[in-house]
This record gives sequence, structure tokens and C-alpha cells, in this order.
Amino acid sequence: MKPIIGVTSKVGEDEFTVGSDNITSILMAGGIPVILPSSADNAEIEQILSRIDGLYMTGGEDIVPAYYGEEPHPMLGTVSPSRDQFEIAIARKALDIGKPVLGVCRGCQLLNVAAGGTLYQDIHSQLDEQLLQHAQKSPKGHGSHHVNVAKDSLLYRLTGEGKLLVNSRHHQAVRQIAPAFRVSALANDGIIEAIESREHPFALGVQWHPENMAAVHDADSLKLYQGFIDFCRENM
Ligand code: MN
Repeated sequence: MKPIIGVTSKVGEDEFTVGSDNITSILMAGGIPVILPSSADNAEIEQILSRIDGLYMTGGEDIVPAYYGEEPHPMLGTVSPSRDQFEIAIARKALDIGKPVLGVCRGCQLLNVAAGGTLYQDIHSQLDEQLLQHAQKSPKGHGSHHVNVAKDSLLYRLTGEGKLLVNSRHHQAVRQIAPAFRVSALANDGIIEAIESREHPFALGVQWHPENMAAVHDADSLKLYQGFIDFCRENM
């Protein structure tokens, strides 16, 4: 049996959308992706989680800063309040019950906020240091900067690499890490590029877009999806 992976979607005015590389990557690794609705009450969220074997949180808009106790910074981008409400609730519940979770880009930030951490609303205006280019202008699947992976992390166990070349399309990042989480990878400028739970068997967030890299057959990105899907299958 293949594991069923719930995939969060972007809430548009006329349609819900998911970047197709997310779906392709899950399929390539042997999962069955199902796109989740973006509103549900607590009982419905419990029911959804009881039917899926893993939760996959996609990229997208900025998160409403009130979720981490802040007013909006002038550089805050587009937010999607209904999407935030649903995703924070389902992420908290998934963390609670130990359901495997993989978050990419916004999904990584969402996990941190859901677990009680904070974000930089805009890294370039809120940090004094000269940062790397984190909003690459190269093709989506092109690895543009490196991240240094902690050797004792889940991310390292999945990829077997202490250094990964990743793509980068973000202007926000994890600021204060959530209490139950730890840093799994840092960019050379100190930006947190991956986090994982210290208490949950598989709750990992990466700040990049491995789906775009897996779609062009990047070996480390494929290993990330394979590791996630294998873990979901073993825990069905
Ligand atoms: Mn980056």
C-alpha cells in the first residue's frame, strides 16, 4: 500500500492551486497526493488526519504576523488569512499526534509559527548584515546557495550530506525557533534554512523548494522526498 499524503493548497479567489512539482515529487517517491481543503473545523481536521499518512505543507504567501504576536512590517507581502487559519490548526494537530509532516518554504515557516516560533517578516530590511540573494532570479530548479546541515539531524540522515546546494525564493525566514524545534541547516549568512522537531519523529521544514529541484532530478531533493514517503509508509 502506498501512503496517502495530504497536500495543502493556495486559496485563490476562483480556484485552489498546488504547484505541480509538489505533486510530481510525491508521486515519484511513491506517495499518493491528495489536495486538502483550506477550511475545516477541529473535528474535520482530526478526521482528515486520521485518513492521511503524512502532511505536506506547500509554499506560498506570507503568514499573518499576528500569529506570532507582531504588527505588519511595511515589507510584509501578500497574506492569506483563511489558509493560515486552516494550516496552523492542522499543523498543530499533526505535531500533537505525531503525524509525519514535511513543510517547504512557507510550510517551514508555518511549522515554526504553529509550534510557537517567530519569523523575520522581511530578512533584508530586518537584518543589518549583508545577506545572500534569497530570491533567486535563476530558473526555479536551479540550486543557487549552499546550506550547512547539522550532522546529528534528520535532514542529514535523509540526505547523507553535510552541505546541500538549494534553490531560494523567500524574503522571510525563521527568527526565533519554536521551543520543541531545532535548527537542521543554516545558510552561510546565518539564515535558518531548515528546522525539525526534537519531540516528533518526523516534522521537518526546509526553507527552499525541493519540489522544483526533485522535478529536475536533483539527487538530494529526491532523497528528501523518498525519506519522507518511506517514513509515512512505515508508519501507516
Ligand atoms: Mn535561502
